[in-house]
Amino acid sequence: MADADLICNFKKCRKILNSSIWVTSCSHAFCEEDGSREFSRDPENNTCPACSTPLTAKYDVVKTNLNPTEQFKSMVLAGLRPETIHDIATRAISFWCYQVHQERIYQENSAAKIRERQHQLEEFYESALAQLKSEVTGLKRQLECTKKELENQTRRAEETAEQLREKIQQYQKLQGVCSSLRRTALASSLSERQRGGVNQPNAKEFVLGPKTLSEAIEAPNAAQRQTALSNNQGFNFQPVTPGSAGGNGRRPTPIWGQRK
Ligand SMILES: [Zn+2]
Ligand SMILES: [Zn+2]
Repeated sequence: MADADLICNFKKCRKILNSSIWVTSCSHAFCEEDGSREFSRDPENNTCPACSTPLTAKYDVVKTNLNPTEQFKSMVLAGLRPETIHDIATRAISFWCYQVHQERIYQENSAAKIRERQHQLEEFYESALAQLKSEVTGLKRQLECTKKELENQTRRAEETAEQLREKIQQYQKLQGVCSSLRRTALASSLSERQRGGVNQPNAKEFVLGPKTLSEAIEAPNAAQRQTALSNNQGFNFQPVTPGSAGGNGRRPTPIWGQRK
């Protein structure tokens, strides 16, 4: 659109005017289509579609051509006095100035509306951005808490695993002690039997049972330990009669680990 171009003043049209147009005494201009439609309904009672001014006089609405022929230009003002020609030209220029001024106001209003809309959008997006930032901050804080919680849980799990390892070691130690005591007790019993002779009817075999193990471990010396082992309630000493296990005259194989 060039500065010299006029725009159809019909609100929904705003077409650039460049040939046959309609102009009104209230200084409005319309394209061929809009003017023909608006000014043919009731030619005697026209009103301006732009400003609603009644246009009932003969020259209130005129159809003109923006590209007049050379012949028209030569003849349209021919014969008129210079002051009349000047007056006509002045009015025509006023019309054009009004159109340009009106278009400038329209553009300024549009620009103001766009700026207002832009301002509203900026406010909206700033607010949305602030809200998002706040949410992100909240989420970060939550993430930090979760991380800390996870670290605590991991640390507790490691501590528990460490405690478990210690318990296992203690258990293995106790198992070692238990085996050692069992061996000692068995050796002691064997030597006693060898000293006392296998033919004595009171010779006994015994088996160390788990019920007296803790008692045996906690006994402060070997004698007490032996007593503790002798007090075994879960197991008993079983007398062995010579020859009863096989009857071939040889020393019977001791029966270890027999339960009651
Ligand atoms: Zn139009
Ligand atoms: Zn008008």
